[in-house]
Amino acid sequence: MAGEPDANCLFCKIVAGEVPATVVLETETTVAFRDINPQAPTHVLVIPRAHYPDAVSLAEGAPLIAADLLATAGVVAEREKVADTGYRIVLNTGAGAGQTVFHVHAHVLAGRGLEWPPG
Ligand code: AMP
Ligand code: ZN
Repeated sequence: MAGEPDANCLFCKIVAGEVPATVVLETETTVAFRDINPQAPTHVLVIPRAHYPDAVSLAEGAPLIAADLLATAGVVAEREKVADTGYRIVLNTGAGAGQTVFHVHAHVLAGRGLEWPPG
């Protein structure tokens, strides 16, 4: 069922504490942790505790948690001291766009020049 844990999902396992992660922030509805393969000096992933495969299914199924996800990304940016200089929130959606983990996650990227348009 939408929002329920998926036993085969890596990020559900991180939420459950079954897979270790470098957690930087936790809220009632979200968890933020450092990406294992950082693409920038700041590269944090923000996920909802609830399992939704992508950003749109989260927005449709749990819009308040979708808002929490973005708010948590903003707090992460403040704590990482990149809020003033700027950061990018990326929500890869679908394998063709580079999504490899199908538990929605917002990448918070900063600390280097970020090209536009993105690759
Ligand atoms: P995406 O390609 O948008 O689905 O992003 C998945 C991200 O998860 C990649 O940037 C990976 O480096 C990251 N990742 C995969 N496994 C882990 C893990 N165990 N802990 C932290 N980040 C991970
Ligand atoms: Zn999951």
